[in-house]
Order: sequence, then C-alpha cells, then structure tokens
Amino acid sequence: MPGKGTSFAEVDRDLAGPACLGSETVHPRLSEDLTALPDLLETTRSFAQDALARLSARAVTVPPRPTAAEPLPIDGAGAAGALSRFAERWEPGFSAGAGPRYLGFVTGGTTPSALVGDWLTGVFDQNAATATDSSAAWLEQETVGWLAELFGLGGEHSGAFVSGATMSNFVGLAIAREWLGEQLGVSVAEAGVGALGEVTVLSGAAHSSIGKALSMLGIGRDRLRPVPTLPDREAVDVRRLTEQLDRLDGRPAIVVANAGTVNTVDFDDLVAVAELKGRYPFWLHIDAAFGAFAALSGADADLVRGLDAADSVCADLHKWLNVPYDSAVQFTRRRDLQVRVFQSAAAYLGHPGEHPDFVHLTPESSRRLRALASWFSLVAYGRTGHQDIVERNVACARRLGELLAAAPGLRLLAPVRLNVVCFTLEGEPSERRVAEYVRSVAESGETFLSPTVYQGVPAVRAAFSNWRTTPADVERVAAALASAAARP
Ligand SMILES: *Cc1c(COP(=O)(O)O)cnc(C)c1O
Repeated sequence: MPGKGTSFAEVDRDLAGPACLGSETVHPRLSEDLTALPDLLETTRSFAQDALARLSARAVTVPPRPTAAEPLPIDGAGAAGALSRFAERWEPGFSAGAGPRYLGFVTGGTTPSALVGDWLTGVFDQNAATATDSSAAWLEQETVGWLAELFGLGGEHSGAFVSGATMSNFVGLAIAREWLGEQLGVSVAEAGVGALGEVTVLSGAAHSSIGKALSMLGIGRDRLRPVPTLPDREAVDVRRLTEQLDRLDGRPAIVVANAGTVNTVDFDDLVAVAELKGRYPFWLHIDAAFGAFAALSGADADLVRGLDAADSVCADLHKWLNVPYDSAVQFTRRRDLQVRVFQSAAAYLGHPGEHPDFVHLTPESSRRLRALASWFSLVAYGRTGHQDIVERNVACARRLGELLAAAPGLRLLAPVRLNVVCFTLEGEPSERRVAEYVRSVAESGETFLSPTVYQGVPAVRAAFSNWRTTPADVERVAAALASAAARP
C-alpha cells in the first residue's frame, strides 16, 4: 500500500511502460491527471466543502433551464478542466435538495459519514456481485443484517441492496410471483408468467411503483385490485380485504400492505393483515419505503408492529437513512425462491451457495458496493444517532402542523402521523390554485413542497427526512407558506 508521501508519478512510471498495447503511454490527459491526483483531490475536496457550506443558504430549488448540449469533447480538458466546466455550466442549476428546507419528496440528505463512504465506494470501485475475489460482499451482508435489526426484523429475513424502493418492490413482487407458481406446482422463472393464469394483487393505498413493478413483471397493472381504505384514512380496511380474499375461493394471491403512504404517512394494521395468513393463502409484501423508520422512533414504533411477519419487505435508504442516491434494501424470508428468479447461470459465476453472491439475488449482475455509505453512517452514528434523526424530523413535522393549523388561508387535511404535513388552501382549492401556490412557494427559494391530491382534494405535502433540519427551519418554512397563502 503506498504510504503517505508516495509520489503518484512513481506509480505513473508503471503505466508508461511498453506493457500497454497500442500506444507507448496512456493518453496525455490521463497521465497528467494521474500525476496531479493529490492536487485534484484537494481541489475537489475544497469545492465540495464550499458547496456543503452554502447548502443551507442556497435557494432550495432553481427553475430548470433547458441547456443546449455542447459537442462531444474530442481531446478532453483533464479533470481540473472538467471541474471548472461543471462549476460554470451545471452546478448553478442544481437544487439544494440535500438541504434542510427541501420538503418535496422524501429525499433525506447525506450524513457526513455516508458521504465519506460514498466517496470511498468510487475509490475502491468494488464489484459486489460475488464473494469470490473481495470481502466487499461480506460488508454488504453485515450491513443488511444491521438494517434488518434496526427495522425490527427477526433473523429469518435475508436481503440485498438495490437502487431504490421501486427496485425493492420489484424484487419482492418477483419472489411473490415465483411463490404463486410454487403453490400451483410450476416455476414461473422457467415456464414464464403465462403459466400462472390470472393473478390477483390486493392493496389499499399502493404507491405508484407497485403498478410499475407489476408492469415490469408481466403480471400487469390491471391485476392490482384496490381494496377500500378506512373512512378518512389511507390505511386498508381489513374487513374489506378479508372479503376480497374470501372471494378468491382459496386461490393464492399477493397482498401488498403499506407502511407509510406518501400523502399522510398512514399505516395498514400490519398485525391484523398478517393474521389473515392463517386463513387465506397469500404472499405478504410490505412497502415500508420510509415507514420502516418508524421502528426507530420510541413513540411511533407501534406503527410498524407486524413488519416481521412479511414474506418480503421494501425499505428505502436514500430517504430516511440519509445516504446519497441511490440506495435501498429488500428483505425476504424465501431466499430459495429469490435465487430461482434471479440466478445468473454461468460457469464462471459459480453456484448460489452459502456465501453472499448477490449476482444471484437482484436484477443487476455487476453492481457497485452501495452498502458502503450505509455501513459508514451506521458505524458513525449507530442506532441512537439515526433514531435521533427520525425523532427530530417527526417533531419538526408536528410543529409545522401546529403552525399551519393556525395560519390564515390554510387547513390541514389529515393529522400529522409521522413526518409529512398534508394541507391545502382554504375554500375550494382547484388543482390550478394549488399548483400556483406551490410555484409561488418554490420561487421564494425558502422551501420546496410537492402538490398532490388527497381524497379528491388538491393538496400540498411537506415531508421531513433531512438530518440537518432544525426548529428554526420549521419557523422559516411556516412563514414562507403563510405569506404565499396571503398573496392574491
Ligand atoms: C419513495 C417510495 C417508493 C419509490 O421509491 P424510489 O426510491 O423512488 O424508487 C415506493 N414506495 C413508497 C411508499 C415510497 O415512499
């Protein structure tokens, strides 16, 4: 391992040798960059430091400007040239989405330690597909185990990193599809989805990614049969779910339970839904993309009681764990079925066995060591540090709820159950009025919220998930929201 002070030019000599085919030396820009690497890293470090220091001050969103594409660079500008072009052409158009007052989607931010892990992911550039040439896959396995424990899953769930909750739902439902085949005595992985006949997927207020996953899986979006929710709620009506299962006459189905809906962060009664497994044959998938983090909050952990009973679970990490994009985890109790779906049969890849060969578990073959950022954040801040992020975000959401309930011109549409405030304009808010309101808030540069429709009413949602957000930010946001509501 090169010590402190090792000259990169020394390493460079090896690259300049005749071993390289085609040309005597590497491309001059690459060779210059290699020599300049210590300076480059230092310049990048101070550029990053500056960007992070200005994160709270910069406008939360910037109106996207269509930018004409430049021609493909022919000789290249070197990394320093690329950095200055990025700073000139693109960086000004980037939002403070990782900052404390971005409340649009549940985006989280990046904890300092997660950033370190993410940088080192590129430095080491491990291919976490198999466990044959590096310990990287074992690090991923350790991290998945920690996350399972954090979310209150017992020892029976195994899992893998994927790029986001959409892919996590996709993997969970792919295993569900294989399980349906098992019930009917066929392997969908071998025979195709046609072997299943008609599939029924039941869910209350499913996220749009469930339909997307069903489309990708060849099951079809139409096979998602909505189950009515409780009055004034986004939580499934378990009695209606029971009736729908009853009507299937013993045919196996898939039930998607929701733990944390996007509008009002409502939770299905997971214990009651899981209990139905004793009476009806179904695969229980729980979409707990950000709701899983309720398990970390002392007062709210009950919301996810029953999560462990799921056959598969989806949890996002680039949301409330505050690691950078892109990162999520999927869990299942049936790794055997997962391998049947995702195994990549090639002699050189070996056979799915005891060691964590992720190539056989998820849609990708080669894959980055996405786990490293989460590993760093969990090692740096532990359970209590991440619990603190969740609990502070929940307190901020509740405070904003109080302030908006008292603000003229605005009204809450649902109680603040966890980290999202769902509200609208007083009177009869049209979608256009709400869109104008959201735009006017965004133009203030103070915060960014996303429009939605809740139970037929055009509405706005403010989602808290960033580790940096403070009560002072909440006051600023509330003031910006009230003043935008007061504008004619
Ligand atoms: C965000 C979210 C998803 C999709 O997550 P991506 O990471 O954007 O793929 C799915 N389900 C729920 C409940 C979500 O909140």
